Amino acid sequence: MKMADFVFKLSQYIKEKKLGFFSFDKSFKELTTVKVGGKIRLLFMPFTIENFIEFYDFYWKNGHSMPLVVIGNGSNILASDNDFEGIVVSFKELQVKYYRLGEEFYFFPQCKMPYIANVMIGLGYREIEYFGGVPGTIGGTVAMNASYLSKSIGDFVSEVVVITKDNTIKKYEANQLKFSYRTSSIKENSDIVLLVKLHFPKGDSELTKKNYLKLLEFRKNKQPLNALSAGCAFKNPKEVRAWEVIKELGYCGKKIGGAKVSEKHCNFIINTGDAKASDLYEILKSIQRDAKIKKNIELENEWILINFD
Ligand SMILES: Cc1cc2nc3c(=O)[nH]c(=O)nc-3n(C[C@H](O)[C@H](O)[C@H](O)COP(=O)(O)OP(=O)(O)OC[C@H]3O[C@@H](n4cnc5c(N)ncnc54)[C@H](O)[C@@H]3O)c2cc1C
Repeated sequence: MKMADFVFKLSQYIKEKKLGFFSFDKSFKELTTVKVGGKIRLLFMPFTIENFIEFYDFYWKNGHSMPLVVIGNGSNILASDNDFEGIVVSFKELQVKYYRLGEEFYFFPQCKMPYIANVMIGLGYREIEYFGGVPGTIGGTVAMNASYLSKSIGDFVSEVVVITKDNTIKKYEANQLKFSYRTSSIKENSDIVLLVKLHFPKGDSELTKKNYLKLLEFRKNKQPLNALSAGCAFKNPKEVRAWEVIKELGYCGKKIGGAKVSEKHCNFIINTGDAKASDLYEILKSIQRDAKIKKNIELENEWILINFD
C-alpha cells in the first residue's frame, strides 16, 4: 500500500472509531522542549489507552509499513529538520492520570514527573522529590531510566505494562526491565509503556517538600533551565563527566547557527531561538569527533535522535 493511502486509512479509522485527535501538520518543533525538527506525517493522540491499543492493532494488522514512534514530553529528543514520514503517538490527551489501590499507585504514561512528585509528596511519600525537576513524562522517564544525583527511576518501579513491537501486551516486573544507565529493555526493544506501577518509601511530608525545593534550587543553579534544550546531549563516560570533556575541548559557549553550548552546563546544547536541528546536530558531531581524536574518549549520545541517517 502506498504511504499516502496507509495514512489516509489510519486517519479514517481514528475518525470513525473516535479514538482520539490526529493531525497532518504538526512538527517536532511543537512537540519537543528544544523546539526544532520537521513536520510529522501523522500525529495521533488517543483519548484512552484502550483507544491506543485498538489503533495499534489496526496499524499492525494493516501492514505497519511506516515507522511509529512514541513521544512523551519530548525532553530528550532531537528530531531532524526533514519531514518525518512516519507516525508519532503522543499520550498527552489521555484524561485519566493515575489510579490507586490502597498503597499501590499506577500511573498512565503521559503523567509528568513534577505532577507525580506533587501527588506522592502530598500523600506522604519521599524520594520522588529527586524526579520532580525532570521535565519528562513517566513513560519516557522509565524508558530512559532517568536519574538525578544518586537516584534512578528504575529503583522505584514495581511493574510496567507495555505493548511490544509485535503487538502483544505484556506486564513486566522491575527485575525483568534491565534498568541501567539511561536505558532499559523498554528502550532497547522499543516497547511502548502503557502503565507504570511505582513505589516510594513513606516520609515526613514537610521534610520532603523542603528537600524538593532544595533540589529544584540546586538544579536551577546547575542547568540552563531558561533555555530551550533537550537535556544532556551525552552520557557520562565511565571515568569522567561529559561536561568536563566538553569544557576541556574548548566548546563551552561555542555557537553554530542558532545552537550554542551552554556555559552554565557544557553538556547542554541549547537553541538560542532560531536554531535548526542541523545546527544542534553539527555541534553534537563536532564535539564527538574532537573527543575521539584529541582525547580518545567515545562520547555516546544521551539524546534520542529521530529521522537522522
Ligand atoms: C532541562 C532538562 C533537564 C533534564 N534533567 C534530566 C535529569 O536530571 N535526569 C535525566 O535522566 N534526564 C533529564 N533530562 C532528560 C529528559 O527529561 C528525561 O530523559 C525524561 O525522562 C524523558 O521523558 P520524556 O517524556 O520527555 O521522553 P521523550 O523525550 O519524549 O522520549 C525519550 C525516549 O523515550 C521514549 N518514550 C517516550 N514515551 C514513551 C512511552 N510511553 N513508552 C515507551 N517509550 C517512550 C521515546 O520514544 C524516546 O525514545 C532533562 C531534560 C531537560 C530538557
